[in-house]
Amino acid sequence: MAHVSVSNARKDYGAFKAIKGVSVDIGDGEFVVLVGPSGCGKSTLLRMIAGLEGITSGQIQIGKHIVNELAPKDRDIAMVFQNYALYPHMTVAKNMGFSLRLKRMPKSEIDHRVGNAAKILGLENLLERYPKQLSGGQRQRVAMGRAIVRDPAVFLFDEPLSNLDAKLRVQMRSEIKELHQRLQTTTIYVTHDQIEAMTMADKIVVMKDGLIEQSGSPLELYDRPSNLFVAGFIGSPAMNFIEGSMGEDGFKTVDGLLLPSERRPLDAVIYGIRPEHIRLDPDGIEVTTIVVEPTGSETLVLVRLGGQTLTCVFRERIRAAPGDILKIAPIHDAVHLFAADEQRITT
Ligand code: ATP
Repeated sequence: MAHVSVSNARKDYGAFKAIKGVSVDIGDGEFVVLVGPSGCGKSTLLRMIAGLEGITSGQIQIGKHIVNELAPKDRDIAMVFQNYALYPHMTVAKNMGFSLRLKRMPKSEIDHRVGNAAKILGLENLLERYPKQLSGGQRQRVAMGRAIVRDPAVFLFDEPLSNLDAKLRVQMRSEIKELHQRLQTTTIYVTHDQIEAMTMADKIVVMKDGLIEQSGSPLELYDRPSNLFVAGFIGSPAMNFIEGSMGEDGFKTVDGLLLPSERRPLDAVIYGIRPEHIRLDPDGIEVTTIVVEPTGSETLVLVRLGGQTLTCVFRERIRAAPGDILKIAPIHDAVHLFAADEQRITT
């Protein structure tokens, strides 16, 4: 097990700055998810920690060692990739034991470790199969098995579930989380999927354009996003942002409609409310229904508020047709206010 510390890391590809000075501390046994839109630099940062990319400046420490100059094989890490990278001509058992054979570990020890990992992952009956005889989920488990047998200080995952269908992704998500609870190995996991990040992480690091926007526990990020980007990125469907300005009676939208707000900071120009924090209220604001999407467990309703469109998620079933008027109100303590510089207003 090990603590990982990245200090002011930078990565330039020629004139292009992919990582622009990133510091992050990952505690011993912690499960940290790096998340952000395509191109934000999350894979680059992970590959820098793995040693697959050089570091332009800054420092990376794994356990007691500064690893900037160490080869990947000397960093005591194991990485699981999106495409699994299994050897097609080797059985599952041989694939899992491959790195240990390279290290010239005794066969009895290899068999023991492979057997153990197979048991953890439910692969005991598949050890003699070849990768092409496996399902996508089984291949993914073999890729994880290869990492587990090495008993590394740190697991690194690069979008390991993105080649799986939606149902399997949800299942494997739980399996990886359970695996972490069992092994308690420090884990750094890259994904662009904020639901994966929310459900798996002890700590989420949200990245954009080579920088960290915010890091914290999933619920800290959901409850108190520090800026518009994080507020819009975390949560699904995304938070509604309504433009306007703060007045003495509440927040006045650009169309002159009044929205309730307990706090009245005069610099607020964006009123944020999550779809699930809007309720129906006979004394609420009138909106016009655009689209109604029942999912069975809840109802997604798109409405028009003045010139702006809002997404609402109601737990109850709503019988509304396009054009119908609904009356809605935000849950008061769930309103987020942002200033013109896109930062959260905290007071
Ligand atoms: P995705 O989710 O699409 O994989 P990402 O956040 O993981 O995105 P990276 O792969 O880390 O993004 O890439 C970050 C930026 O660095 C991108 O703009 C990418 O084009 C650039 N980049 C990555 N590798 C190289 C390279 N070898 N040479 C030049 N630019 C690169």
